[in-house]
Order: sequence, then structure tokens, then C-alpha cells
Amino acid sequence: MAGDVVIVGAGPAGLRAAERLVAGGLEVTIVHEGESGGGNIYRRQPRNFRRSPETIYASEAGRARAIHALYDRLHATGRTLGHTSVLGFESGALLCEGEKGLFRLPAPTLMIATGASDTILPLPGWTLPGAYTLGAAQIALKSQGCVIGNRIVFFGTGPLLYLVAWQYLHAGAQVAAVCDTSRWWDKARQAPGMLWEPRALWLGLRYRRELHRHGVALHEGIQAEQILGGARVGGFRFRDNRGHSHDVACDAVGFGYGLRPETRLAELAGARLSFDPVQVVWNVAEDGHGRIAPGVYGAGDGIAVLGADAAEAAGHLAALSVLADIGRKVDALELKAISARLARFRRFRRALDRAFPPPSASLAALPDDTVLCRCETVTIGEARAAITAFAPDEVNRLKALCRTGMGRCQGRVCGLATARLLAEISGCTPGEVGTMRTQAPLKPVSYAAAATLATTEIRQAIEASFSEKTS
Ligand SMILES: Cc1cc2nc3c(=O)[nH]c(=O)nc-3n(C[C@H](O)[C@H](O)[C@H](O)COP(=O)(O)OP(=O)(O)OC[C@H]3O[C@@H](n4cnc5c(N)ncnc54)[C@H](O)[C@@H]3O)c2cc1C
Repeated sequence: MAGDVVIVGAGPAGLRAAERLVAGGLEVTIVHEGESGGGNIYRRQPRNFRRSPETIYASEAGRARAIHALYDRLHATGRTLGHTSVLGFESGALLCEGEKGLFRLPAPTLMIATGASDTILPLPGWTLPGAYTLGAAQIALKSQGCVIGNRIVFFGTGPLLYLVAWQYLHAGAQVAAVCDTSRWWDKARQAPGMLWEPRALWLGLRYRRELHRHGVALHEGIQAEQILGGARVGGFRFRDNRGHSHDVACDAVGFGYGLRPETRLAELAGARLSFDPVQVVWNVAEDGHGRIAPGVYGAGDGIAVLGADAAEAAGHLAALSVLADIGRKVDALELKAISARLARFRRFRRALDRAFPPPSASLAALPDDTVLCRCETVTIGEARAAITAFAPDEVNRLKALCRTGMGRCQGRVCGLATARLLAEISGCTPGEVGTMRTQAPLKPVSYAAAATLATTEIRQAIEASFSEKTS
């Protein structure tokens, strides 16, 4: 099963791209990891759960309904492939793991809409049970109707910080405090730029107002110091904007510093990355219309984080690029309208990114025993020692020297923090030390699937190399 265009991702970007491609007469196959579509923002609850869209998505219920209906239509016509992880891309085909194991899916034209994930920075205690990313805290609530604790502190920065705290408050959870590393002034001075999307600005202000009205302590311009606790989270320590230290008792924390695009599939498909010095993340370079490389297109937060409404517009625009490139007639007015819409989102996002800058606090000043890479349990002290001893000039050298980023997540969680640490100690910018090289598998592979691979391709490759050597 493979359509004219294979789309990876069933969020707003992938689904709107699919809709426009099908309307343009092409066949599509949408590959994604979930049971059903919607992506991160419109994540669906399990089929036997009965909460209404209003309960789960609040102001976004109408949009969620529309995206779910679109997914259901595409699913009913056999165009979706759920429960499937894309592990790699080689010679024009995706390597996938689905319910029946590993398989290759030819993708002569590939559309990448893989979304984003939380940006994490380490601090003492961040690997304790009870410490979640903001995204994970929201997934627990949206998907399962669960909260992460009885008394919760949310900290970090970015729009998701206030949104998730507000969602928890509305679900009846006790939110002990919201602690934002960005300052009130950072946000206030970006207000004119955020007026490009007045609805989003209004919603953000509403979340803050309601948190405040319900007595949730809001602290801005803080420095996160430690997640306290022994066997599990017991509190959160931060320094306020006047330099005073505070401990807030809690049994869970949700934290994150904005989102970073999931660029890795695009990299395997030949994309170039570009560094964003404001959010200190790597984006996928594209031509402004979703073209990444010959036959490879991209849209949504997996290319550059612009938000869900922008992801829908970007999916639509990238689909128009596919149609134009294969010689189909594309209506100039449609192209102009959708490009203008996306340009407005980009202006809004520039202001939003400046309103919630990543914290400037030093990673090099963290205690030696703070975990940097949790998969391989590499500490800040070990990474610092490797940097001091060998002076690596880019992040992949540091990875080879101390194993940070070599575990299950392949640097998805610790990659940016490792680059920041190296840059800080070597006196350069995170952009200059680069990003961890991507290789397949992009996601952990089950033992059962790996065994299939070993008995077919790996065995053949070993046999081939053996016969070359002996002939
Ligand atoms: C956890 C989380 C929660 C968020 N919640 C909100 C929110 O409440 N409100 C808001 O405005 N914004 C939220 N955002 C941001 C929001 O997700 C996006 O702006 C929007 O959903 C982007 O749409 P997208 O289509 O680009 O990607 P997404 O909606 O993120 O969809 C990505 C898709 O790619 C698939 N995928 C990724 N990698 C692979 C792979 N290797 N193999 C197979 N499939 C893959 C996923 O299964 C998914 O279907 C959230 C982001 C995250 C990470």
C-alpha cells in the first residue's frame, strides 16, 4: 500500500496536506504512530472514553471536530496507516515498524509532518519520578483523563506552560504555582507583534487571568534551581526575579522550555537544517512553500514551530507545491491567499518566540552530579570533564567522548542541552557547535521487529560482505 504521496504525520499539517492532495486527484498514504489522527493538539481519547470535545479541547473543540472528521474520512477510504513508526528513509523508501513488524514503504514523493516535542533543559532532580514534561502532562490529561499528581508545579516557559496549567486547573487539579523563566516585560513588549493573531493573544491572556483568579501563584523572571525530593518529587526550588530563593511543596512537576521541531526524518531525507538563535533550536530549511529536497516536502511544527493553525495552512501550501511540481494547474489566488495566511502566522510567531525566550541560566554552573543524558546516565560533571580534557569543537565529538545522546532517544531529549553546555564552556554559540547527527532507527525498535531484520537484511548484508572478502 503506497499512494502517489506518502505523508508522515496525522496532525493538522499532514491531514490538511492530504485533503488538498486528494482534492487535486492524487492518492495519499498517511503513516502515523497513533491509533487515530489529530496530532498533538487534537490528540484523541481512547475509543471507549466518553468525554465531550468541549471538555478536552475547550476553545479548540470546533477545530478538533473538523480535524477528526477529516481523519475519519481519509481512514474510511483506506488512506491511513496508524500504529506505525517510521524508523528511517533510504533509497526512496521509508523503513517502518507497524503492528505486523518491519516493512518498507516506497515513498517516491514524501511529505514530512512529524510535529514537535518539548525542549528540555536539565536541573537537579529532573529525572525523579513525578517530573514530567509539559507535553507529557498534557497527554496524560487529554488522552487518559489523568493528572500527574495531587499538587502540581508547572515551570519553564512558552505558551504551553500557561495552557497546560489552565487545563489542569479546569480538570479540577490543584496547581500549586506557575513559574515562568521569561519576564513580564519580555511578553509585554511583544504585545504589538502578537496582535497579528488576536485570538491567540486573547486566549493567552485569558489563561493567565483565570489562573490568577483561582489563586494560583504566578512567578515570572524566575530561575529554576532544583526539583526537590528523595524517592520522588517533593517540591520545587526557584529564585525569584529579586534573587530570593523559594521552595514550593508539590508531588509532581510539569516543565518545558518551548517546543523543538522533530527534524530527524527530514534530515535522513536530505534536508538542510537552519539554526534559530531566538528559540535556540534547529529548523528544517525549506523554500517558504514546503519544498525541502527533490521529491521531499514538509509542513507544520516538524519544519518550524508555528502552531496548529499555521500547521494547517502549511500543509495546504505544501500540497499545492506538490501539485505544481508534477504539472497540475494551481489556482494563483488560492496560492496567494494561503501564502498570506502563513506569512501572518510567521509574524505572530516571531513576536511569540521573543516573548518566551529560553532561559539564559548557565548549564555549566549546575552541580556535577546533575543528569544531562538520562538514557546513558551521563552527568554534567562527566560531560564537563570531557570538554575540558579534549576540547571538542562540535557536539558529535562530545557525544563520542562521553556517550551523551547515544541511548534510546538518540539525543532527542538531551541534544540541545548538550550543545548549549559545550557552547557555554567553549565560548561559542550553540549554532556553532552544531547538532547531533541523525541516523536510523529514529525511534526505539522492538526486539521482535529487530529479530526479523536480523534474519533477513542484516544476515544477507553480512553474507554479502563475507563472500566479497573470500572471493
Ligand atoms: C505534547 C504536545 C502537546 C501540545 N499541545 C498543544 C495544545 O494543546 N495547543 C496548541 O495550540 N498547541 C499544542 N502543541 C503544539 C501543537 O502540537 C502543534 O502546533 C500542532 O499540533 C502541530 O501540528 P503538526 O501537524 O505539525 O504536528 P503534530 O500535531 O504534532 O502531529 C505529528 C504527527 O506526526 C506523527 N509522527 C511523528 N514522528 C513520527 C514517526 N517517526 N513515525 C510515524 N509518525 C510520526 C505523530 O504520530 C503525529 O501524527 C502541542 C505540542 C506537543 C508536542
